[in-house]
Parts: sequence; structure tokens; C-alpha cells
Amino acid sequence: SAFPESEPETELADPMMLQWLGSLGFGVEYVRGGGNTLHFLDGAGEEIPVIDFAGGYGSLILGHNHPDIVRAARDFLDSGSPVLAQGSLQPAASEVAKTLSAIAQREFGASEPYFSVFSNSGAESIEVALKHAEFDRVLALRAVTEEIARHLDEARTAVRDGLAEVTAPAFDALGVVAQDRAAGAAGFERLAAAVRAENARRTARPPLFLALKGSFHGKLVGSVQLTYNAAYREPFAALAPPARFIDVDRPEALRELFERERGTVLDVVVDGGGIAVVERSFPVFGAFFCEVIQGEGGIREMTPEAAREIERACSAAGCPVVVDEIQSGMGRTGAFFASSRIGLRADYYTLAKSLGGGIAKTAVTLVRGRRYRPEFELVHTSTFAKDTFSSTIALRVLELLEADEGRAYRLAREWGERLTAMFTALRGEFPGVVKDVRGAGLMLGLEFHDQSGAQAPQIRAAARAGVFGYAVSGYLLTAHRIRTFPTASAVHTLRFEPSVLLTEAEVSRLGEALRTLCQILRDQDGRAFTGG
Ligand code: PMP
Repeated sequence: SAFPESEPETELADPMMLQWLGSLGFGVEYVRGGGNTLHFLDGAGEEIPVIDFAGGYGSLILGHNHPDIVRAARDFLDSGSPVLAQGSLQPAASEVAKTLSAIAQREFGASEPYFSVFSNSGAESIEVALKHAEFDRVLALRAVTEEIARHLDEARTAVRDGLAEVTAPAFDALGVVAQDRAAGAAGFERLAAAVRAENARRTARPPLFLALKGSFHGKLVGSVQLTYNAAYREPFAALAPPARFIDVDRPEALRELFERERGTVLDVVVDGGGIAVVERSFPVFGAFFCEVIQGEGGIREMTPEAAREIERACSAAGCPVVVDEIQSGMGRTGAFFASSRIGLRADYYTLAKSLGGGIAKTAVTLVRGRRYRPEFELVHTSTFAKDTFSSTIALRVLELLEADEGRAYRLAREWGERLTAMFTALRGEFPGVVKDVRGAGLMLGLEFHDQSGAQAPQIRAAARAGVFGYAVSGYLLTAHRIRTFPTASAVHTLRFEPSVLLTEAEVSRLGEALRTLCQILRDQDGRAFTGG
């Protein structure tokens, strides 16, 4: 065989990752899940319950295997409906689109609809926004070029009819030297060729895409360049245009960048008897991407002031705003869109994760009516996007979130307040251990102080290896049967993203576990930390 023989026990799917997870105590197989509880089998075949605060990395706003979602899935399969019926009417998807637009219009107080472009994962919904924004820019640029061509034709006619002559400043602007400045048609053609060449040169520059420092927008070829974490992004820098990263604490940097990078082309106007050259702007900015609560960046909230500055600057520069609601959306923060809480109105919203109800994999990019390019439907498709199963599940998820006048949103808000109060009390009690409490609703982060100077060697070693947050998570799972993880790029911050089905018992279990953890860290009890 051309293939090397492998031992039967050789792990062939993420072997390194699995080994690492095992070393931290995460090497268990969950065999059952419901609500915020997962069960794994211990050595004796006994089911051990674990309270899940990782929530499928924010995909489980309705918990594991919500009975109504499971029923919708069963009913769908029992009905014999086809899952893949591309190129036909897909009313469930149409209904999802209609519902999402209605929710967006309600939360942002807008009359303009949002169109839905379906895809299969979070990162893919970002790629859709990226591509749609670039398509829009290219079509707008083409319209500018065509208008300039029309203006050149009008000017040519005026010169031919003896009504106008190219002005000296026009020749100056294009650097046409004296001996080439013929009168009449010859001089005009000389100018026209120079305008076309100069514009071709200017518009050849690549578009600029902007994002915030600390952002996470996915790991596909285009989206990873919008993701701030250098370890994810830099090895792939040659594959897609790099983003410019803005510091959210200095949103005025956006306006400065727009001013500095603005692009202009040359146009001609017939002004009285003269042909003059004027500068006009053309679209250079592809889009500005942001999360209003950065998830993987450490649960960091954007202020309403920053949101207003972003809106003003982008609107003045004609740069579309993409708000990534993949983690923050679907009701998690107490409103369907986290951005509606700070009044950030976007041209694009991306949704994924909880849209599939914890069962299906689906994503949507919402495009504001005035920006939507129907031609995009012909150039961007995916076999699996918009499949009937996912759409049916997504529709049921939306119904459940919207039921009882948004009871789910109220629950997210109230449980968020409850958890925040508990975390804040912990910080008060252990100021040397807990550094910060951040987030809104059921998207919360608890940041720990750096332990790289810790007395206990076990704690110090974890911190120096850059895995302190994972060691803490391993401790919580092993000692307390509580599951959570640090955020991907801020590994001193633990995430808490349970479902709205949270119970008082689960909150107090978490409280006790965190209190014990804080005592261990305060007292530098390294043996307890590693379960020794
Ligand atoms: N954007 C945000 C804000 C996310 O949190 C994530 C996933 N953590 C993504 C994009 C990428 O989503 P996916 O993993 O489904 O590609």
C-alpha cells in the first residue's frame, strides 16, 4: 500500500488537540445533553452530569436538545420533506428571511427591509458580507467609470462642434506637455487618453477592509484576515487582502483613515467654452467589520459613543458597516441584536451559531435594502445553503425566541444581571484574583489577574505556558463538574454563555465552584488547583 500502516489506536482526527485536551482533564465523551446539562460516562459506566456554561461556544441560547426543536426536527424527518431541493420554492427559508427582517426593523426602528443571504457557518456568513460588499463596490466603481466615459463623449462632441476647447489647466492636471497640446480634436483625444490611463492606474488599487483590534470574524481565507489574533491570521496573510485594524478606544481613527485613504478619479466637464478636469471620489472602502461585544477577544463591549462615531464616520465615507452578531445575536444579550442595545445601525448583520437551534448548521447574512445587489444571487451560491431542514429548525428557533412578547430576551437579561451580580461580588471578595467582570445578558466574561508570578509552581507553570484559563477550566470541570472555556484570544477571561433555561440551582453551583477556585488562587493552593 502507498499508505503507511497505522496502529488501530492511532488517532487521526485532531490527534494533537485531543492529547492536549486530555492533559487538562477535558478528555471525556459526552453521551447525553439537555438544557444546560451534559452527561459523560465515568469508568464504571455511570452518567456524570456537568453544567455547561460554554454553551456550544454561544450556539445554544435554547440549550442542548430543546424539546420543541427536537420535535420540529422529528416532525420534519417524519414528514418526508426533501432536505435538498435547490432551485425551487423554499418557503421555510423565505419565512426565516421575512421574520429576521421584521425583527431587525422592529429593533432598529427602521422601515427599510433587510434581505437574507443564507450560508452554512459563521465564517461563511462573514465571507458573504465581504464578497457582497466588494461586489457592490465594484459595480459602483463601474458606474463611475461609465459616467466618466459618457462625459468624455459629451466633451468630444462639444469640441467637434467647435463649442469648446481643452483648457490649459486641464492639460496641466494631466501633465500633457506643451508640444502635445494641439487645438481641437487632436488635443482633446490626447487629454482623453491621459484621463483614461490615469483613472485606470488610480482605480487599480485594492479595496480597504477595516476591523477592530481584538476582533474575531472566523478562520476562512477572507475572514481570518479580519480576525485580529496574529497566530490565526499571519500564516495566511498572502492569501487575501489584509485588514486595517482600528482601536475601538480611538474610534476617531476611522475618520482619519478615511480622510487619508480616500480615492479620487478624474472627470471632465464642459464649462462654458472650456473643457475642464475635476476630481471626484470613487469607492475604495470595502466595509468596516465589528462585533458590538467581542466574544473571542475577551467579552469586550463597544460603548454607545463609539457606535455613534463609527456610524457617522462610515456614513460620511460611504463605507458599509458589517456588524458580526454570530455570537452576540439571537437574543443572547437581552435583545435579538446586541447592536440594537447601543443603537448601531448596520448595512450588514451576520448570524449563525444559535440560529440552528443547537441541531442544524446554518447562517445568514442580512443586507440592508438600499445596499442589496440582486445580481449577487447569480454569483454566490452553496449546495447546502438554505437547505429545508436547517431553515425549518431556524424558523422554530425564531418562533421560540419571539414567543410571549420576547420572554427569552427578558430571561437572558435577568439571568445576565443575576450572574453579573454574583461575579461582581466575587471580585469584591477576591480583588487580587478576579480582575474584571464584563459583558451583557448571557454573554459574560470573568477575567483573572495574571498568575505568572504565582507562588504555587502548578499555578505559575500554567500561567507561564499561556494556558492559565484552560487550566482553570480543567479544574472547574474536574473538581466541580462545570464546563466553560476561556475566550480564544484573551485566555485569562472565562466565558459564560449558558442558555435562557438557566436555573437558580445552576447559578448557585457555579457560585460555589468559583468561590472555591478563588480561595485556591488567593491561598496559592497548587495541589488543589491540579486536583492533586
Ligand atoms: N464571528 C464571531 C463573532 C464568532 O464568535 C465566531 C465563532 N466563534 C465566528 C465569527 C466564526 O464562526 P464559525 O466558527 O461558525 O465559522
